[in-house]
Amino acid sequence: MDKRAKLYRSYVQNATSYEYSKLHMYPNFHCQIESTSITENLDIHMQDHIYRKKMKSYIMQSKQYTSNAFESIDWVAIQQASKTLPMKKQIWLTKFASGFCATASVMKKRKSWDTNLCPICQQCKENTDHLIQCQDERSKSHYQKAIQKLFKFLKNSHTHLPIIQIFHSTLSNNLPTSFEYFVPTYEIDQDIIRASREQDEIGWKNIFKGHLSSKWAHLQMNHFSKMYANPPSLRPKTSSYNSTTYLIQCGVAEMILYMTISKKTK
Ligand SMILES: [Zn+2]
Repeated sequence: MDKRAKLYRSYVQNATSYEYSKLHMYPNFHCQIESTSITENLDIHMQDHIYRKKMKSYIMQSKQYTSNAFESIDWVAIQQASKTLPMKKQIWLTKFASGFCATASVMKKRKSWDTNLCPICQQCKENTDHLIQCQDERSKSHYQKAIQKLFKFLKNSHTHLPIIQIFHSTLSNNLPTSFEYFVPTYEIDQDIIRASREQDEIGWKNIFKGHLSSKWAHLQMNHFSKMYANPPSLRPKTSSYNSTTYLIQCGVAEMILYMTISKKTK
């Protein structure tokens, strides 16, 4: 085991990419975490095991998530989607999701600005939630451009139509609303209803941090399995696999980058 660890460290130190090492795929090597055999995505499983409890208690206490909401978030998809981006974009998104990007509130805390008011509407405290929800006409028009990019991305990625329709109804305006409320009355797929209910528990505004119910990915996977003879894996081993089920997170990530970078550099 130690020999393997040394080999792996030397591989990481010399690697120029984040490609997953094949060193662990030798015969006779296997890994178990609390009696569960891990056969793929070893790095993600180990990180999850080490940090999950701490992250859960932090998010529940400081961000007011319920235990069920935390457990229903597709954390693996967030990680896979972020790996499709260059490091500087990953850092930008991490700052947005954690509330540390340069909003007026943060600038005032850093004593760089005198006010924490939104520079556009001049009426509300500007934090990351307000960046999305600002009701000034200029902000609303900017949001519309960003959200159209998301819808276009979802359509081009062959997203399951009922998912697009629900996201269209709930995200077209930049104000929080209920997903379950917008499930069409003719919808008979119980998984769509369950995904919408779970998304409501996670929260509308948290979609912009990539916090989506894992049920969306399963719905998308079922859709792909009807579309393709060899559907893509739900949990691909490499991040270079296109058109997989973390596509909503990819689309949201690009949307936030468009919204925040263009807004902050104007
Ligand atoms: Zn504003």
